[in-house]
Amino acid sequence: MSPSATSNTTANSAAKARAAQAPPPPPEPLAHPVADSHTHLDMQEPAVADALAAAAAVGVTTVIQVGCDLERSRWAAETAAAWEPVWAAVALHPNEAPRLAAEGGDALLDEALAGIEELAALPQVLAIGESGLDYFRTGEDGVAAQHRSFRAHIELAKRTDKALVIHDRDAHADVLRILQEEGAPERTVFHCYSGDAEMARVCADRGYFMSFAGNVTFKNAQPLRDALAAAPPELLLVETDAPFLTPAPYRGRPNAPYLVPVTLRAMARAKGMPEETLARHVAANTARAFGY
Ligand SMILES: [Zn+2]
Ligand SMILES: [Zn+2]
Repeated sequence: MSPSATSNTTANSAAKARAAQAPPPPPEPLAHPVADSHTHLDMQEPAVADALAAAAAVGVTTVIQVGCDLERSRWAAETAAAWEPVWAAVALHPNEAPRLAAEGGDALLDEALAGIEELAALPQVLAIGESGLDYFRTGEDGVAAQHRSFRAHIELAKRTDKALVIHDRDAHADVLRILQEEGAPERTVFHCYSGDAEMARVCADRGYFMSFAGNVTFKNAQPLRDALAAAPPELLLVETDAPFLTPAPYRGRPNAPYLVPVTLRAMARAKGMPEETLARHVAANTARAFGY
């Protein structure tokens, strides 16, 4: 190999590495417009204007911007006020609540909850979320704070008549139990649904919405596709959870709302339903779930 060939090879692999990180190409536009029911624009690289334009160009005309702590919930509310296609959800994430409690006890957690409650009164804030339980990232010592925070968010959603957006990671049984104990809000959404088909039937019986993310496209996600097959079309939503969970075949590259069609098409295939039919369901369900 000549020295120039060597440097070409180096340049080629550098270009390949860059392409792996480059944003995926825009998919074919959807036949019927839908919403990205759960995204984090504040964690994505493009400016909000560009993210929304790219989404609208492929039929993703509404976006729910989700806050995970007090500051980012405030940003979500401000962004929803500034941009017509954006609505906000505000909450302390189940991993944020134990962090606050460890730092300043229940007093600091309650102070942050009071801040969330203030934001929840704003008209562009349609949901309380993401709240719930995360036993994957938070250990034993954080469970009490997580439960306390989750119960407070459920109560707030009911009192303000907003939707509740649930983050449930490795905590299905406790999430379902606490929802029963507190009494679930009228509109409850499991974001990035991760249960099996049996749990999908429980959710369906209770009228909970199930929002599927890019991981439903993953090769090893057959149990998730079985859950999707078991879920009634009237309770299905789609989301990106961007910048996380980029759908196949773009895993490892940045996710964004304009990639919703990739996931929705995979959902339509798993459900054996025409894309447009599913898109119409999803669009109506998201509007009903969030009340816009
Ligand atoms: Zn989440
Ligand atoms: Zn999220």
